[in-house]
Amino acid sequence: MNDSHSKPLKDQNALVTGSSSGIGAAIARKLAQHGAAVCVNYRSSADCADDVVRSIVAEGGHAFAAGADVSDESAVQGLFSECVARFGRLDIVVANAGIQRDAPLEQMTLEQWRAVIDVNLTGYFLSAREALRLFAKQEINPALSRAAGKIIFISSVHELIPWAGHANYAAAKGGIMQLTKSMAQEVASRRIRVNAIAPGAIRTDINRQAWEGPDALSKLLKLIPYNRIGEVDDVAEAAAWLASDAADYVVGTTLFVDGGMVLYPGFASGG
Ligand code: NAD
Repeated sequence: MNDSHSKPLKDQNALVTGSSSGIGAAIARKLAQHGAAVCVNYRSSADCADDVVRSIVAEGGHAFAAGADVSDESAVQGLFSECVARFGRLDIVVANAGIQRDAPLEQMTLEQWRAVIDVNLTGYFLSAREALRLFAKQEINPALSRAAGKIIFISSVHELIPWAGHANYAAAKGGIMQLTKSMAQEVASRRIRVNAIAPGAIRTDINRQAWEGPDALSKLLKLIPYNRIGEVDDVAEAAAWLASDAADYVVGTTLFVDGGMVLYPGFASGG
């Protein structure tokens, strides 16, 4: 197999926000396995980000860690400057950093609302806007990719499925759906591809209470037609594909990686 098949992202450079853990870490590793050099962004967990970098380097890849709070405009601009200083150019930006601050709506504080919107929606906007500014300046290099740049938003099944007790999170993810489509429509003619991935229930820290222990897991599995919890690599594989030229004609869509969670499992036996 030649390199363009075994390493479809060879010589490309990627930034993955919030990639010191969970889905982001798996995406960073996967993009590196496919040949990309990766900036592992973290907010406060420098040690965990360094571990991700070390695991990439141990497999023969290239990576560095960079701290930045994605909800802070100047920090995001600094993060992109650092990527350009280290890499020269960026080809792939994955906006992944996310948080939950759950509460019933009546009890939800403005602080909880704002925290989630600031990171999960404004953070995606800030990362995507800087990516766009950079991609628009870069020449398309067909030896690297048919696109000038690729942006991938890690959304959620909750861009579609309402979620009582998590209205801030669902509102942010619903916003990401329209950000994906509006931005893709706006920039596609410049050969910039914007897409989203909507994971279902993936085994990470963010949702530990939903899968830890047999009772929680069996309750969760009732929501998943494919009858298994998702693993971070399920999402990482999808991200690597979306970032590659194999997905060159995929523009402005959300790829659900959810074991069928959005298929109204309650209707499986006729409703
Ligand atoms: P996670 O908690 O392991 O990862 C979230 C990461 O974002 C962490 O590394 C955290 O440090 C980072 N982060 C948080 N705030 C940040 C900020 N202000 N600046 C920079 N980084 C910040 O959980 P995860 O499950 O890997 O979540 C990753 C993404 O996947 C999130 O957007 C989440 O909403 C989405 N998602 C997860 C699931 C799931 O089932 N795990 C399902 C659907 C969507």
